Parts: sequence; C-alpha cells; structure tokens
Amino acid sequence: MNSQQVITELQTKGLNLTTDTGASGRKGGAGPSDHKAVTIGETTFMVPVYTDGAAQSPYSVNYETGQSVLTKNDQVITELDFPEKPKFYDLTTAEGIPYWKIALLHSRNVLATTVLQTCIRYENRKTACQFCAIGQSLADDRTIAQKTPQQLAEVAEAAVRLDGVENMIMTTGTPNTTDRGAAYLTECAQAIRARV
Ligand code: SF4
Repeated sequence: MNSQQVITELQTKGLNLTTDTGASGRKGGAGPSDHKAVTIGETTFMVPVYTDGAAQSPYSVNYETGQSVLTKNDQVITELDFPEKPKFYDLTTAEGIPYWKIALLHSRNVLATTVLQTCIRYENRKTACQFCAIGQSLADDRTIAQKTPQQLAEVAEAAVRLDGVENMIMTTGTPNTTDRGAAYLTECAQAIRARV
C-alpha cells in the first residue's frame, strides 16, 4: 500500500489506540469529533479514534521502540506521529475564556470555529439535521454560544504567530435572521483579515 492508501484506510477504518499521546482528540460534539490529528511523512490528517468502528480497526500503534509505529493486524506499516498540543491553547481572553473554546486546531495548520453554536433547526429534533451534534459541545462546556469578531481575530493572530496556522474554517449554526447568519460571518471574516 502507498501512503495515500494507508491514509484513506485510516480515515475510513479508524485507529485502535490503547495509549493516547500528543494533543488530545475531541470526544463527541461538533465535528470532526471523535477524531485525532495524525502525521505520516509530511501529511497531517484527522483519524477517528474514539468511535466504535475505531475500536474494531485492524490499525493500531506500537510504541515499544520509542518511536510510534503504525501496525495493521500487528504487521508494521510505517512510522507515524501525533502533533503536540498547540501553544495558543494555553492562552485566555481578557474575560477569562480559554482560546480553545473559541477555535480549535484541525490537522496541523488549520484553525476551525463554529461562530454560532446554536441553530434554529437543531432546537427541534424534527427539523435538526440527523448527523448534527452542534449543541453537544456547548452542553459539555467545551465552547461558547457565540464568538465575537474580536475574539476570533485575537485567537487567529495567536494561532498564526505561535503555531504557524495558515488557514481558517468558519462554520455556523443557523440563526433566526433573514440572511441566516451571512452578515455575521462576513463581519467575523473581516475582523480576522484585519488582524492577520
Ligand atoms: S443547519 Fe447546520 S447547525 Fe443546524 S442542525 Fe443542520 S447541520 Fe446542525
């Protein structure tokens, strides 16, 4: 198997981890939940590790040699690594909100946030999208309901400066406004671009 095939298999089958090292993954909540960042060669990508499927995966990690080694059915495949916790996670805003509740690192160099963690569709299980867990991260106190443009710009600046972030993804729940949140997303993007 070449490395692209290995990555594809890991992303579909997951990784059966007995020891959790590197930056912690995210259990439950908005996506990519139940995943963890993994690096093979120059490529960092997200892999399911906390799912039922991952617990059945033939892929595992052997740490015995002091280097993390990916195995499939106990056969050595390749070396792999887990990115460490980003430095910006240790910072908090002036109001005392941890930066990691405002935006999270996905993969190696992508910052991601859900600008509005509430949604008019999610409030009613009859209208909520079936796959969605946007409210779970909020219920678990792992994020805040609304990120301001200033907070996002502050966190993005730190993530660029301290951890080399190069891209940012912003998503949002649907507010009860005629533009469905488009103007607020624009305001957030403008604040971020003005800062970094
Ligand atoms: S519109 Fe988006 S946030 Fe709302 S329930 Fe659907 S996927 Fe979740």
